[in-house]
Amino acid sequence: MLRRTLVAASRSAKLRRVATDVPIARNVAQRFVAGETLDDALRATRELNAKGMSVTLDHLGESVTDEAVARRSAEVYLEALRRIADDGLDCSVSVKPTSLGLDVSVALCDELVGAICAEAARCGTHVTVDMEGSDHTQATVDLVVRLRGAGHDNVGCAVQTYLHRTADDVRRLTGMGASLRICKGAYAEPEDIAYQDREEIDDNYVRCAELVLAGDTFGRFATHDHRIIGRIRNLARRYGVGPGRYEFQMLYGIREPLQLQLVERGERVRIYVPFGDEWYPYFVRRLAERPANLAFFLRALVGRRA
Ligand SMILES: Cc1cc2nc3c(=O)[nH]c(=O)nc-3n(C[C@H](O)[C@H](O)[C@H](O)COP(=O)(O)OP(=O)(O)OC[C@H]3O[C@@H](n4cnc5c(N)ncnc54)[C@H](O)[C@@H]3O)c2cc1C
Repeated sequence: MLRRTLVAASRSAKLRRVATDVPIARNVAQRFVAGETLDDALRATRELNAKGMSVTLDHLGESVTDEAVARRSAEVYLEALRRIADDGLDCSVSVKPTSLGLDVSVALCDELVGAICAEAARCGTHVTVDMEGSDHTQATVDLVVRLRGAGHDNVGCAVQTYLHRTADDVRRLTGMGASLRICKGAYAEPEDIAYQDREEIDDNYVRCAELVLAGDTFGRFATHDHRIIGRIRNLARRYGVGPGRYEFQMLYGIREPLQLQLVERGERVRIYVPFGDEWYPYFVRRLAERPANLAFFLRALVGRRA
C-alpha cells in the first residue's frame, strides 16, 4: 500500500515541484545520485572503477513530452560516451525510453536510442534500455527488437520479474542475442499482470536468471538481495558459467559493503550511477523500495524544520 502510494507520488508533477524546492530533499537524494553534472558522474565512475567495479551511467529524466528535451538528453549521453572513451573508463550507459522521446513518437525514440547505440559501439561499450511501468513494457521490448534488427548488437534491456510475461520476454530477447538486466521491478503493477508476493517474484527472478545462464548471452543480475545473489552464484556453478559470462549490478549508494564483498570474492560488479537534476521520481522509487529510507527522509525533514 505504502509502495503503491509512493510510486504514484513519483509521478506527481505537483509533488515534484514541492520536493525539488526543499533543500533537505535534495541533500537526502544525493545519497542515491552522483550529482547534477556529467563531471560529477564521471568522478564517481573513476572512483568506482578504482575499487574494481564497472559502471553504467543514467542521465536522469523520464516521461518527457517535449522533443527538444529528449534531444538534449540524447546529447548528454553522446557527450558522456565520448568522455568515457577519452578517459578509458569501464562504463556503459542506461537509457529510459520515455526520457528519449517514446511518449513523443516511436520514430524519435528509435532515432535517439539508435544514435546512442552507434556511439556506444564506437566507444566499445553497450547500452541497456531501462524498463519502466507496464504501460511501456511492450513498446520497450519492441524498441530493442527493432534496434537489434537494425544491427545494433550492443543493446539489451532490463526485464522485471514481478511481471507474469517476463520469462517469455527473456526467451525471445536472449534468442536474438540480447544481453538482459534481470531485476525485480520498481513500479506498482496490478495483480492481473504482476506477482504481488515477494516469494513468487524471487522465484521468477531465479527462473529468469536460469534461462540466461543456461543460454549463451551475458547475464546482468541487478539486485541487492543477498539470498538471490547466493542462489545465482550456485546456479552459475551448476551450469559451469564463470564470472566472465555474467555480472551483478547494484544501485549507487545502496549496500556498498556488499558491492565490495562481491568484488573481493572475484565476482564482476557494475554500479548504476544516476546523475542530473531530474532526480525526484528516481529518488521516490528508492524510498518506495525501503520504508527505512522514507523514515530517514521524514526525520531529516522534521529535524530541519524544528
Ligand atoms: C542496477 C539496477 C538497475 C535497475 N533497473 C531497473 C529498471 O530498469 N526497471 C525497474 O523497474 N527496476 C530497476 N531496478 C530496481 C529493481 O527493480 C528493484 O526495485 C530494486 O533493485 C530493489 O530490489 P532488490 O532486488 O534489491 O531486492 P529487495 O528485496 O527490494 O532488497 C534487498 C535488500 O537490499 C537493500 N535495498 C534494496 N533497495 C534499497 C533501497 N532503495 N535503499 C536502501 N536499501 C535497499 C535492503 O537492504 C533490502 O533488504 C534496478 C535495480 C538495480 C540494482
